[in-house]
Amino acid sequence: MNLVDMTLQRSFPTVMVPRNEAAAEMETSGERLLIAENGVFLEIRRSWINLVRQVARFTVRTAVPYGRVVESTKLSFDRIPPDLVGQFAVMARKAFPNETGAWIVWSATTQAFRLAPVRIISHSGGSLRYEPPALVGDEVLVVDCHSHGKHPAYFSSTDNEDDRHDVKMALVIGNCDRSNPSIAARLCAKGIFEETERVPQAWYQAVWATEAV
Ligand SMILES: [Zn+2]
Repeated sequence: MNLVDMTLQRSFPTVMVPRNEAAAEMETSGERLLIAENGVFLEIRRSWINLVRQVARFTVRTAVPYGRVVESTKLSFDRIPPDLVGQFAVMARKAFPNETGAWIVWSATTQAFRLAPVRIISHSGGSLRYEPPALVGDEVLVVDCHSHGKHPAYFSSTDNEDDRHDVKMALVIGNCDRSNPSIAARLCAKGIFEETERVPQAWYQAVWATEAV
């Protein structure tokens, strides 16, 4: 096969899921398709997350002699520190009425999180253009945070377009002029968006607690 397709397929392989044993684990960060008896699944591996989601179903009852796959999510840490969400709320209030952004990053080596402000190219009350923050060592993006100024927290069509290729959590803080700003959060995984129905209470507490700062 030609070099370009070989490279593409190596970077995004397809696995026939065995019926009588577990599929071999992914050895490095990346993505692969799993063809299973019960459909087609996308598996994503990063240092901080391992995720399996169904992306297609068979439309006819062809017998596929492969194993079954169940969706799963495995995180490499117990929780994202709420105080970093609170730190971002302080940034959002300072930037008001403009939007701002920051990344919560995590290192597998140190197991430490930190808040890294993005490098803003331009921002207004309804838009934000930025460059990613400089990361240190094996730090990776875990939560991509941005604020919505006076507007409520939600995911706009611009956000959907921006987040389409990423593997991350996305967090929006809105109504930044209020003592109780609104919060929206979701998991983004290569075009899959799963909005968090209940944002952790500890995040609200951290965001609302920054009012007096
Ligand atoms: Zn937005």
